[in-house]
Amino acid sequence: MKTEILEIDPSKIDKLKIKKAARVIKNGGLVAFPTETVYGLGADALNPSAGVKIFEAKNRPLDDPLIVHIAEKNDLFKIAKEIHKIALDLTAEFWPGPLTLVLKKSEIIPDIITGGLNTVAVRMPSNPVALSLIKEARTPLAAPSANLFGRPSPTTAQHVLADLTGKIDLIIDGGRTNIGVESTIVDLTRQPFCVLRPGGVSLEKLRAIIPQVELFQPKDVLAPGMYPRHYAPRARVILVQTNGKARVGKVRKLAAELESQGYSFGILTTEENRSKYGDYNVESLGPGADLAACAANLFSVLRDFDRQDVDVIIAEGVKEEGLGLAIMDRLRKAAGMVKEE
Ligand code: AMP
Ligand code: MG
Repeated sequence: MKTEILEIDPSKIDKLKIKKAARVIKNGGLVAFPTETVYGLGADALNPSAGVKIFEAKNRPLDDPLIVHIAEKNDLFKIAKEIHKIALDLTAEFWPGPLTLVLKKSEIIPDIITGGLNTVAVRMPSNPVALSLIKEARTPLAAPSANLFGRPSPTTAQHVLADLTGKIDLIIDGGRTNIGVESTIVDLTRQPFCVLRPGGVSLEKLRAIIPQVELFQPKDVLAPGMYPRHYAPRARVILVQTNGKARVGKVRKLAAELESQGYSFGILTTEENRSKYGDYNVESLGPGADLAACAANLFSVLRDFDRQDVDVIIAEGVKEEGLGLAIMDRLRKAAGMVKEE
């Protein structure tokens, strides 16, 4: 299959190009498009045979459910049922934006989209390209991240190309995504309400609306679509969670060990620590105090290290507040849940 690329400026939507992409969706095809979080791989959420193609292109297990994207808040009532007031409080505050709600699913959503579950994940993105595409297609879009299963999510059209060229019909290139980590997923069908995945809406902001929400703790049983290793570069990732001054010492010690063992490696750090690693191969996420900037760069930097073909990435942990919680979640999963090395 030939994968076509269409450039669309999110601040100046080209209607003709959107129409072309919407036709691909209507015909049951796959279109990768930018959202404010990461690039999504979209298909008509009401067409089961289009839904299957998403799993095939991504090599994604069929029991890993997809998020359904809508362009009007009211469409929530078509996708889900038994919607409590709390859901509307959340959508009033955070939609359009990086918050996904898990609710009881309505009959129009095919089982393939939800991995056979009786619940559905729904979100209204804010990126104008995403909104125009959904509106023009006149159907909700099932859209997981547009990467091969298990790989770091794509934050540029080039990342999508690297993973999915020849496997999908079209990629809309709308530039870099600005949040850079996926949406926060809140399950409103569990008591207490539960964050299944930290993401673009911080836990602090969420708790201002629903104070009782808890962070899901994967013990023995994982929530649907949770895998111990995910978002992972090809390189082995070692996450250093030591806090304070000891952190740099720990990273240096690991670096010296890897060097003596003959490995090539990169160090993932924040701007302030960059100079502490001398001539080593270092990439910075951004200023440690600007966790939103760090989140925006995370997946891109992981992919950069892969392009350099390093054997190991030593990653410094960040503060688990604001978007830091989402960053640490991705880094732990990239490290295969290794908490401390
Ligand atoms: P993504 O590939 O980033 O779009 O991931 C979608 C994720 O949303 C899945 O991997 C699940 O973890 C989660 N998800 C989607 N639908 C449901 C659902 N019905 N119940 C629980 N989690 C869901
Ligand atoms: Mg994904």
